[in-house]
Amino acid sequence: MSQALQAVRGMNDILPDEAAFWELFEETVRDWLKGYGYRPIRMPVVEPTPLFKRAIGEVTDIVEKEMYSFVDGLNGEALTLRPEGTAGCVRAVIEHSLAARQTQRLYYFGPMFRHERPQKGRYRQFHQVGVEAFGFAGPDIDAELILMGARLWADLGLDGIELQLNSLGQPDERAQHRAALIDYFLAHADQLDEDAKRRLHTNPLRILDSKNPALQELCGKAPKLIDYLGAESLAHFEGVQRVLRDAGLPFTINPRLVRGLDYYNLTVFEWVTDKLGAQGTVCAGGRYDGLVEQLGGKPTPACGFAMGIERLIALIKESGGEPAAPAPDVYLVHQGEAASRLAFRVAEGLRDQGLDVLLHCGGGSFKSQMKKADGSGAAFAVIIGDDEAATGEAQLKNLRQDGIAQRKLKVDELAEAIIGYLIDSDEEE
Ligand code: ATP
Ligand code: MG
Repeated sequence: MSQALQAVRGMNDILPDEAAFWELFEETVRDWLKGYGYRPIRMPVVEPTPLFKRAIGEVTDIVEKEMYSFVDGLNGEALTLRPEGTAGCVRAVIEHSLAARQTQRLYYFGPMFRHERPQKGRYRQFHQVGVEAFGFAGPDIDAELILMGARLWADLGLDGIELQLNSLGQPDERAQHRAALIDYFLAHADQLDEDAKRRLHTNPLRILDSKNPALQELCGKAPKLIDYLGAESLAHFEGVQRVLRDAGLPFTINPRLVRGLDYYNLTVFEWVTDKLGAQGTVCAGGRYDGLVEQLGGKPTPACGFAMGIERLIALIKESGGEPAAPAPDVYLVHQGEAASRLAFRVAEGLRDQGLDVLLHCGGGSFKSQMKKADGSGAAFAVIIGDDEAATGEAQLKNLRQDGIAQRKLKVDELAEAIIGYLIDSDEEE
């Protein structure tokens, strides 16, 4: 036997039991998005490498060390597996002029790729739901995007996810803060680690995002961006907060919330839980008014967020959420050639009536087939032997309730009998 191959480190198979949680999650999310007027968009998983360099920024963790980039061996094109969805979404919006004359509310689901050190809540292939709104300049959409989050946590039955909020102001305000930050860190250069030293002159704001415990105190006392915001930026920030307060949604302003990507301005936010250990951010986003123009489109204000599906599903499990066990309505047991041929017809007929049917495949005795029927969780077994087949009949056996006698019915009467029972038992519950 040759040696079995394994999945790439940090890239997970999602097996059926686990996938049931994903489907439940996706259903809930689609309903929720519909409730806010968001429409789906699907972009490729691979994009030209320069897209991410331009969108995310050269001096970011993602572009510096996390991207799966490669050269297409056939035409020499530089390509990258997408590490996030906003860049590709903006590219698509520009390429197809989606936001040229109208606003757009869009969402997507899908895998993202980052070469990180795999650990709980941090994978090399992970999945996000991304939500993006184009063409809205005011703080109302920022606030709505945030309120949406709160509703989703409720829809998913999650609590204890807390909102952190900050404003990054506009580029000129950031430039002033940046100068002050460089002066501050230069004055404490002896305390900086290698990463921070390297970023001091390229992207000092990123130092604030450092996860190094030794830097926390230094970062805590650094000049705060909020003190450099002008009247307009402050008004926008206040506008967002007002809606949140009106809605009774608690939040914390975290001046050190700067986000790991370069394209944000004004509002940034994260939803954080303490139930998942170090990887506690389940959703993050903000405004990125400059990005569309930066990627070659007409200036278009934009705002959005992305949530980490693995982390949210971990949280759903942690709080005891369970997808309903998938059970068919009917398990179809059959033996003999005529019976098998009839069984296929009966199964399709029941499905025509909207019933879920597991048709036994692979032969075997009635006894072993009935065991499988019990194990499947089906409400009914429909049993066809050659005797029944000869008369166009089948046995109907209730698998959920003891003491109900098996009945022989014409195959045409099966659907009605089963549906009638299912409706009655729904009403009893
Ligand atoms: P972190 O600080 O945890 O690295 P990030 O700021 O890099 O997160 P974003 O780019 O904002 O993350 O992505 C949005 C969300 O996607 C995160 O809040 C998280 O829930 C999820 N996420 C990001 N990277 C990973 C990963 N490697 N594995 C699993 N989920 C991830
Ligand atoms: Mg990261």
